[in-house]
Amino acid sequence: MSEISLTTKADTFSSSLIDLTGLDSDDLTKAITDLGLPSFRAKQIWRWVWRHGITRFDDMTDLGKPVREQLSQLMMVTRPTITSRQKSQDGTIKWLLRFADGNEAETVYIPDDDRGTLCVSSQVGCTLTCTFCHTGTQRLVRNLTVSEITGQVLIAMDELGEWPATHDGRRLTNIVMMGMGEPLFNYDHVSKALNIIMSGEGIGLSKRRITLSTSGIVPEIARTGAELGVNLAISLHATNDALRDVLVPINRKYPLKDLIKACRDYPGLSNARRITWEYVMLDGVNDTDEDAHALLKLIRGIPSKINLIPFNPWPGSDYKRSTDDRIAHFASIVMKAGYASPVRTPRGEDILAACGQLKTASERLRKSQISAQNEAKDTLKDETAMSVSDN
Ligand code: SAH
Ligand code: SF4
Repeated sequence: MSEISLTTKADTFSSSLIDLTGLDSDDLTKAITDLGLPSFRAKQIWRWVWRHGITRFDDMTDLGKPVREQLSQLMMVTRPTITSRQKSQDGTIKWLLRFADGNEAETVYIPDDDRGTLCVSSQVGCTLTCTFCHTGTQRLVRNLTVSEITGQVLIAMDELGEWPATHDGRRLTNIVMMGMGEPLFNYDHVSKALNIIMSGEGIGLSKRRITLSTSGIVPEIARTGAELGVNLAISLHATNDALRDVLVPINRKYPLKDLIKACRDYPGLSNARRITWEYVMLDGVNDTDEDAHALLKLIRGIPSKINLIPFNPWPGSDYKRSTDDRIAHFASIVMKAGYASPVRTPRGEDILAACGQLKTASERLRKSQISAQNEAKDTLKDETAMSVSDN
């Protein structure tokens, strides 16, 4: 079943139907038993939605016709609308998705030899203002709902032909919460969405294949480990508070000492389950040999992976990417200390899908929509003026 469903939430915006893509299995069981139906019906529906990607109750063939009719009057299975789909020369795919209220977010699929990673957004925009990140300059911000987060995964599964979710040779093998937004500022929705995606009766993606990246919202880190057990990535980018206060301003609230302690205490850390430290390489800012040694010192004793991310420029950004030589040298210091292949090759740069570049396309689109609206308003004004002078 790889049929692409473009059922839009916009179509059903004013609908009071319950959207099943936002319910976990307890919610679904309650919704079904509240209708007076037996709870095993909830299990059947769950499998259709999350194992088979079915969006129409009529296709849920083991439910009797009267049940299907009853359900379709009360419930729905939606997808976000695909506003645009871009494919990079390197195989990366970026979808711009529109939600019921017209807001948009981006989702990126990154194929590799041994895996296929989906980069999922948690918010429209971001309230934080990391100075090197384009998403942080987007003014409009709101949390994504549970169904808007699961909807990104469902769209990718539809488009990649991943149904049923148990099929051999899966193309979508990993999820990273590294799209737009700070996932730990939307913990409730993110954790519920991830639990749905991890459910063994549905998509069944293991927690070992999910990584959540945070700028360092310290009070939420412990329960991310205890309740979700996913891999943790930290947007570190600096090894002292003075610089991190500038690059990642949330550091003023949760300084390095507290962040490192929360990471050291992250439940279940081992050689098989390490913290990933993300470190953007900014020319002349954080890329000296001393910075590399300070990084090693800071994370000493914590099971770690280091990810050096060459800075991805965006229009209006003040920073420059460190030179290839500098990155290679920094990486060699890191590798000598025992950390393997740490440089993250930028992917999907030609379609602005690389880290920190998300927003550009949607902003551009929004701007063009706004100018179209303004033009329409101007025309209306002209017409009104004309009709007034005509009278
Ligand atoms: N808000 C979360 C997750 C999304 S950002 C966080 O900050 O962790 C995903 C990663 O891309 C983060 O490590 C972020 O710091 C990094 N990033 C942001 N802008 C970037 C840019 N212009 N170039 C390279 N990496 C960038
Ligand atoms: Fe937000 Fe992450 Fe960008 Fe910082 S790096 S502004 S936390 S999306």
